[in-house]
Amino acid sequence: MSRYSRKRILVTGGAGFLGSHLCDRLLDRGDEVLCVDNFYTGSKDNIAHLFGNPRFELIRHDITIPLFVEVDEIFNLACPASPVHYQNDPIQTTKTSVHGAINMLGLAKRLKARIFQASTSEVYGDPQVHPQPESYWGHVNPAGVRACYDEGKRCAETLFFDYHRQAGLEIKVVRIFNTYGPRMHPADGRVVTNFIVPALRGEPLTIYGTGEQTRSFCYVDDLIEGFIRMMDSPADCTGPINLGNPGEFTMRELADLVLRQTGSQSALEYGPLPQDDPTQRRPDIGLAREKLGWEPTVPLEEGLQRTIAYFEKSLGDGR
Ligand code: NAD
Ligand code: UDP
Repeated sequence: MSRYSRKRILVTGGAGFLGSHLCDRLLDRGDEVLCVDNFYTGSKDNIAHLFGNPRFELIRHDITIPLFVEVDEIFNLACPASPVHYQNDPIQTTKTSVHGAINMLGLAKRLKARIFQASTSEVYGDPQVHPQPESYWGHVNPAGVRACYDEGKRCAETLFFDYHRQAGLEIKVVRIFNTYGPRMHPADGRVVTNFIVPALRGEPLTIYGTGEQTRSFCYVDDLIEGFIRMMDSPADCTGPINLGNPGEFTMRELADLVLRQTGSQSALEYGPLPQDDPTQRRPDIGLAREKLGWEPTVPLEEGLQRTIAYFEKSLGDGR
């Protein structure tokens, strides 16, 4: 591809788990990537392999502060995603979601650039409709400990749709359900790493509550394929669109699977259920199938194998 025909794409949160996989994917197809990250939860390790690539550029920047760059498209992924991390500094989490969205939408408006928002299944809160279709408005506690993230992301969706209606911006909003895979931080705090890492170390796994709550787990490669299809879809396909794997598992089932697949003798322990922890979650992906021809292809067993292999290697003998 000539340098005159390739796209310049901004990825905010590009040094994070999903962002780094997205940077890889965009560079592989020939685009130029500008990665912006403040390294709150992301790491240079996730993108170190890209540093020699002349089509890759990194800026350390916090998106709560305006940014002036020239790009053709924007993927807005910046925001801590693990409950442990987003609750560590909840005010900054809301600022990142809301001020960050305003700054990135302002940038997109000036550039007339298409902009993608990484929204979340958390907009459904502790859902009373199951599985969750996009038409469900959700059940969120606005004053609870998860609200900084849930309401921040809901407000970001509002901003995206108002910039679309009022300023004619081309927007692409996806609601991501729990996604896992290589490059998650070992201390990320989300359940997949919280089970795999101690299982490999022979330490106990802690199930919160009874372990009967459910989640649906999507392998990262499937999700990134959904991102690309959404960004490249016709302008009238604004979303919101659910992206996730409809396979639904209890946390006990997940723990058993991780123990079996790692061959670990680790014990299972039980701890208190975090406040407002959703009891069930499964995406209705009918819209993604219809509009994007997308559905996940990697079953949980296979995705876990790949993720376990990654952690076996990255944790090394020192585990
Ligand atoms: P992550 O924590 O690994 O990545 C987030 C990245 O954003 C990190 O590199 C972090 O340093 C960066 N960041 C945070 N605040 C920033 C700021 N103010 N300015 C610049 N950079 C900032 O999480 P992830 O799993 O890769 O999630 C990426 C996006 O996808 C997030 O917006 C998250 O809400 C969304 N999402 C992820 C999941 C999932 O299961 N992985 C589910 C739903 C939504
Ligand atoms: N969980 C658990 N043990 C852990 C971490 C999480 O049992 O060590 C549970 C948590 O209570 C929740 C589910 O696993 O019910 C998924 O939690 P995670 O933090 O991964 O993401 P969430 O979907 O809640 O944002």
